[in-house]
Amino acid sequence: MGSAAPGTLLDMRILIVGGGVLGTMHAWHAVRRGHQVVQLERDAGPRAATVRNFGLVWVSGRAPGAETTVALRARELWEEIGKAARGLKFRAAGSLTIVNTDAEVAVLEQVMALPDAADRELKLLDAGEARALEPALGADLRAALWCGRDAIVEPRLVPGALRQALAASGRYQFLPGRTVVDADTGIVRDHLGDTHHGDAVVICPGAEHSILGGKALSGLHRCRLQMMQTAPLDIPLRTALADGDSLRYYPVFDVPARKNLPAPSPATDRWRMQLLCVQRADGGLTIGDTHAYDEPFDVGVAEEAYDELRGRAERILGRTIPKTVTRWAGVYSQQPEPVAAVESRHVLTAGVHLITGLGGRGMTASPAVAETTAKELNW
Ligand SMILES: Cc1cc2nc3c(=O)[nH]c(=O)nc-3n(C[C@H](O)[C@H](O)[C@H](O)COP(=O)(O)OP(=O)(O)OC[C@H]3O[C@@H](n4cnc5c(N)ncnc54)[C@H](O)[C@@H]3O)c2cc1C
Repeated sequence: MGSAAPGTLLDMRILIVGGGVLGTMHAWHAVRRGHQVVQLERDAGPRAATVRNFGLVWVSGRAPGAETTVALRARELWEEIGKAARGLKFRAAGSLTIVNTDAEVAVLEQVMALPDAADRELKLLDAGEARALEPALGADLRAALWCGRDAIVEPRLVPGALRQALAASGRYQFLPGRTVVDADTGIVRDHLGDTHHGDAVVICPGAEHSILGGKALSGLHRCRLQMMQTAPLDIPLRTALADGDSLRYYPVFDVPARKNLPAPSPATDRWRMQLLCVQRADGGLTIGDTHAYDEPFDVGVAEEAYDELRGRAERILGRTIPKTVTRWAGVYSQQPEPVAAVESRHVLTAGVHLITGLGGRGMTASPAVAETTAKELNW
């Protein structure tokens, strides 16, 4: 990691609460600017959304304007950080969103006319062009949207790889197994009764909305997703894959032609489902996802949703996919629509910043959101 950037304050000690991707990206920018960082995490290592996601750096789905600007900056940062922390296995893999109907193609044509289509490296491909790009695709395909700026990282490896690079700076300390119970200007207290002192405090608690009494985050929602992982596929996938139901959810597809999409299938409606499929570095497929918003969330994961997701992946790839090896659910923190910014920021008291609410784009956006904090706080 480099030394302090010109014009920044030197020798600050920054306390970061939360060991997920957002907290760790804050640690990254602080250490890069020459500061000391102490990062506290409740668990032995992060076990929440950061290690339960697809690892998709997903520029393609973001709303035009500010959200895409953040995603494109984050994509640049991921590539840069991926070179310094190779263990997170950044891959500039791009993505294909596969569609099968004229109504879906009409949506993609309007997306291609958006002013930022070139910045996202979008291309509308016919079936032959899509198959040339991803030979693993099966026959069930009418057209596809290619996004050259989408990328993949390994979510289970990201926090550890970042921490390893941070530790090499000599300016970083990770304190796992510490639940922060109180925070005030320049100080946090953990559940063991220890106090930690610093010049600034940044709290990134993810979907733990009850943190510090819960008042600040009472306006946020949570969303629960079901996911699965297969044994290694016998061929490599060149890119990440999504199906046509993505057009119902991602803001970039909010173009006039979207209203002409046929009604969702009963499974899509029931599980608020789309197919996303990412090949892990070991060859296995991460497949999802469903969306549930009503709390309390189910304790179990629903087999019916997995049957549907597996069927969709097999149709897109035109082959039987390997057996499922693990299933899990994950929860992320989300702001109510319409959102003013990618993240929700609160200043609890002087120098104590609470940041979360990145929703389903948090793995993508975290490096850029943390950079914004660093700039705003003159780190
Ligand atoms: C299934 C699933 C798939 C997703 N896929 C993608 C994707 O492909 N691409 C994308 O961009 N986004 C994706 N997301 C969203 C993304 O994962 C999240 O937005 C992001 O990980 C949030 O990171 P975070 O650091 O804010 O929160 P978290 O990962 O939840 O981390 C918060 C951390 O804070 C700790 N903590 C909480 N309270 C305390 C306390 N009092 N003291 C100490 N520590 C505390 C927690 O233990 C936790 O480790 C997905 C989310 C899910 C659930």
